Amino acid sequence: MPEDLLLFTEENIDEQLKTAPFQLGCYTLRFYTEQGKPVKKVTDTVSEFYLSPSGGTLRDSTFNLVFYDSRFDTYRGFIPPQSGRNHPAFRYHEPIAPYTTIGLGGPARVFSPCGRVDDLRNALTHARGEGIPVQVLAGGSNILFADRGFDGMVVKVDITGLKSEERPDGVEVVAGAGETWDGVVAYAVSRGWGGIECLSGIPGSVGATPVQNVGAYGQEVSETIVSVSALERATLREITFTGKECLFGYRRSRFKAEDRDRFIITAVRFLLRPNAGVDARYPELRRTLAEGADIASLRPGGETLAAVRNAVLALRRAKSMVVDPSDGNSRSVGSFFTNPIVSSSEFHRILERWAGEGDRSVMPSYPASGGIKLSAAWLVEKSGFTKGLRRGGVGISQHHALALINVNGTTEEILALEREIRSAVAARFGVELEREPVVVPPSGEAGA
Ligand SMILES: Cc1cc2nc3c(=O)[nH]c(=O)nc-3n(C[C@H](O)[C@H](O)[C@H](O)COP(=O)(O)OP(=O)(O)OC[C@H]3O[C@@H](n4cnc5c(N)ncnc54)[C@H](O)[C@@H]3O)c2cc1C
Repeated sequence: MPEDLLLFTEENIDEQLKTAPFQLGCYTLRFYTEQGKPVKKVTDTVSEFYLSPSGGTLRDSTFNLVFYDSRFDTYRGFIPPQSGRNHPAFRYHEPIAPYTTIGLGGPARVFSPCGRVDDLRNALTHARGEGIPVQVLAGGSNILFADRGFDGMVVKVDITGLKSEERPDGVEVVAGAGETWDGVVAYAVSRGWGGIECLSGIPGSVGATPVQNVGAYGQEVSETIVSVSALERATLREITFTGKECLFGYRRSRFKAEDRDRFIITAVRFLLRPNAGVDARYPELRRTLAEGADIASLRPGGETLAAVRNAVLALRRAKSMVVDPSDGNSRSVGSFFTNPIVSSSEFHRILERWAGEGDRSVMPSYPASGGIKLSAAWLVEKSGFTKGLRRGGVGISQHHALALINVNGTTEEILALEREIRSAVAARFGVELEREPVVVPPSGEAGA
């Protein structure tokens, strides 16, 4: 080991970084093999490394520090300086995996927790000054970051606040984007306000619900959203969109499609029904409800909605669709694929193709706006990807065919499994599955 190298271990890293003869700031740590290939799984494999303040072997003049890992002799790390100073409002090299339900993703160069709209403005202004990209993160339940991390600023939306007001047409509930979604559902259910009870147990924040028009068991947030307040990233202006202006569709809105990365949602306004009765559109939910309670004997409002919420939570738990640290099957981003919606002519073509396969099981299909909805889970299973399948450190949940789970793997492995599933479904049915979570960076090469 060269003599001028400083030893960094997990135990002494904080102390060493304070005393190291360089200013730690907006740096990105990268590791490369001797061949110049980026090293994967940096956070898992490299927990001990050495720093050479004098440099040593430089790959590039923009890098002035060299890291050397004694256990992986051939690996080198480089820290390109981005800015000389730490800013007290931000954290640097913050590991992102703990902020996500799937537990994946390398560090963010800059991490900015924002509890107020002005914090968002400051963070965006700082990022612009530094010339670095911004990625918005909230509950981390529908996002997959690259193993190498994010070479920019991750803005974490933590804006809280919850209030309600009675109106002639219902109860208006306004929630800060950083409020926990299920907390808002529980709040509404306990007061007997209906409209979102079937969305019990969905992880994540209020502000993310309009992004993909969150839905489950027949309800979607678009049915109750009156308006969405947002900050325009380019101008730092606050804008309010009516529900209609959000351009909601099945698992879509303008915030996920044409206006992706243009706005940060700061608050959402819902209109709920007081003294609500049962709204159980799915047979599976109706059955579970009937098993758990004598619905006819329950008073409308709180009692009824609590029974619906309990039934939904029971169903979701059985499928590991409630985040539970003790349940490895819930270490996911929820469903990885949306249910495909096809035209009726396409549907007939798919049916014919399936009939030719010699399997006599009936393909599930449902009428939907814009065509016929197919079950992505069924397509995946019929293409040979069954619940409980494992590929290295990742796999498919034992309880849900669409939930790709992280056991002890990487983002790259999840994306490889995704590719495998997509091509098998395309080959068998001629159907292109669409990815539901957001992958950062969006190029789809997050694992590299
Ligand atoms: C076990 C499990 C079950 C799930 N079940 C369902 C389900 O039944 N139905 C369903 O629809 N989804 C489901 N999901 C997906 C996920 O919970 C939802 O999409 C949720 O709304 C994501 O919220 P989040 O705060 O975690 O968003 P994140 O994962 O942090 O972000 C998701 C996307 O939204 C953007 N975003 C987040 N907050 C904001 C904001 N304030 N302004 C602008 N953009 C923002 C992010 O940039 C990112 O692009 C499930 C996920 C898991 C892990």
